[in-house]
Amino acid sequence: MIQEEILKFSGRDAKKEDTTVTVGGGKTEKVLIGGGHFQVIAGPCSVESQEQLEIIAKGVKAAGAAMLRGGAYKPRTSPYSFQGLREKGMEIIRSTREKTGMPVVSEIVDIRHLELFEDVDVLQVGARNMDNYELLSELGRQSKPIILKRGVSATVKELLLAAEYVMKGGNDQIILCERGIRTFETATRNTLDLSAVPVLKGMTHLPVIVDPSHATGAYSLVPPMALAAVAAGADGLMVEVHNEPAEALSDGPQSITMERFEKLMESIRNIRPYAYKK
Ligand code: PEP
Ligand code: MN
Repeated sequence: MIQEEILKFSGRDAKKEDTTVTVGGGKTEKVLIGGGHFQVIAGPCSVESQEQLEIIAKGVKAAGAAMLRGGAYKPRTSPYSFQGLREKGMEIIRSTREKTGMPVVSEIVDIRHLELFEDVDVLQVGARNMDNYELLSELGRQSKPIILKRGVSATVKELLLAAEYVMKGGNDQIILCERGIRTFETATRNTLDLSAVPVLKGMTHLPVIVDPSHATGAYSLVPPMALAAVAAGADGLMVEVHNEPAEALSDGPQSITMERFEKLMESIRNIRPYAYKK
């Protein structure tokens, strides 16, 4: 078991009460997550066009999602896969955010891009960058909330130590995300380590969310694992949703349609009636 003193900022010993992270406000709606506030982040894996992001944003908002996700810089396993719309994608994010008032989450892969993320409300650090300590330290000097995703081969302790890199710089607005780890199992894209949710909640005051999309890699597995995550005590979910999954430029097989998303949100309300407390 980890020694409490190592977790100077993120540990339960550092702060007894759960941290509530405040997202947006100002140009967008203000959203609280953690400390009893449950929220769903939804949207496409990649920003593909103005039309695509707007259709999805309006759909997921109507269904109850509080934040929109969408990657413009995509860290793909193959350099020959779609790499994201990059600067153009950031423009699309900006205008969709303005039109819908939804706070936006997008992945930052390089600290040199920081200026381009001015209109992004939550900076996502992806699984591949969880141990990019220079990036984490720099994000510690920012005032925006961070979603820190667990690396595919990272232990819970390593995830929390990565959070320490950010918090050490003064940024305590961190949301941890369990998104599946690599195991010998090949039936799913990754193995969703759901026990990490209560384990983390015991060790840290930071909010913990679950991404059932990257964890499973298959759209049919997303609703059951999303519901399991809610039952396990997650403070929120991040779900990939697409208006035309078959046409998606990335992660189509794990993207759920807007209709399925709507049904999922209804099921979440049934098992956690106090969800979406503002
Ligand atoms: C993503 O959220 O689109 C993503 C790339 O996730 P991960 O870093 O968990 O693979
Ligand atoms: Mn994805």
